[in-house]
Amino acid sequence: MTRLDFKKLGKSEAEIPVLGLGTWGFGGFSDRHLGGEDKDVKALRLGLELGMRFIDTAEMYAHGHSEEVVAVAVGEERDNVFIATKVSAENLAYERVLRSCEASLKRLKTDYIDLYQVHWPNSRIPIAETMRAMEKLADEGKVRAIGVSNFSVEQTREAQEALSKHSLASNQVEYSLAERSIEDGLLPYCEKEKVTIIAYSPVARGRIPGGGRDERWRTLDNVASKYGKTRTQVALNWLICKEPVVAIPKAGNLEHVRENAGSAGWSLKKEDQDALDKAFH
Ligand code: NAP
Repeated sequence: MTRLDFKKLGKSEAEIPVLGLGTWGFGGFSDRHLGGEDKDVKALRLGLELGMRFIDTAEMYAHGHSEEVVAVAVGEERDNVFIATKVSAENLAYERVLRSCEASLKRLKTDYIDLYQVHWPNSRIPIAETMRAMEKLADEGKVRAIGVSNFSVEQTREAQEALSKHSLASNQVEYSLAERSIEDGLLPYCEKEKVTIIAYSPVARGRIPGGGRDERWRTLDNVASKYGKTRTQVALNWLICKEPVVAIPKAGNLEHVRENAGSAGWSLKKEDQDALDKAFH
């Protein structure tokens, strides 16, 4: 097994691989009986073998079936895989967080979740109430780290302030060469506060590998050929070169899984990162 690079998770001593495995669409989208699970399990197992020992899922993916697919893929390897899942925005009241967590633990066939994330903010439920439940779960050992997702700078700050015993480990947000809006505020904020950014849709849902031929893409292709890498590998490496950032590409195709695994273990030079920054601005 290749050992991928690791980064510290938030302020803690825990470490996560710089590349994880996204699962949106694994086990179906909204219908849990769509089938295709064997293929999904194979893709996840290959990703784990190649060192991407970090899986991101959510209770809402395929109505919880994605978590069941993850449990099958992880099998006996539980202690060697970092599992992150999410509680949905409609379940952020105190008792509902506790119930959602129990249901996720059952579907994941585990007694702890490495990172439990609030999927989206919900202005109808005070974040202090949600975080009280998250801290109870952490105190009970059911959750090892607490994170959020799709939170702005202000919402991240409120979430941090609502935690009294634990620190906020991460914020999972959309980030790729094609979608850079977090650079205006959230990225520097999280870097300063030591909150890990988990970049979702890091290959822009397939737009990066399939991109066009204008100036931006020519720059990306030039950098890729300089390193003997592909567009996708350069785009993912560009993300993980940033101090607080790890990325979770989703790939069901085994060739894509292999290609994505080759995005770590090397680093773009500063001048090439700068060229990409400029081209994709
Ligand atoms: P993504 O990872 O940017 O893109 C996935 C798409 O790109 C799939 O169609 C995949 O095809 C294709 N792909 C992946 N690697 C490729 C490669 N090397 N070459 C060519 N095509 C490639 O987008 P995403 O699924 O939206 O985001 C990743 C994960 O982030 C999700 O699965 C989920 O876990 C998480 N997420 C979280 C949120 C949130 O609100 N927190 C929102 C969106 C996503 P194949 O499957 O055919 O390989």
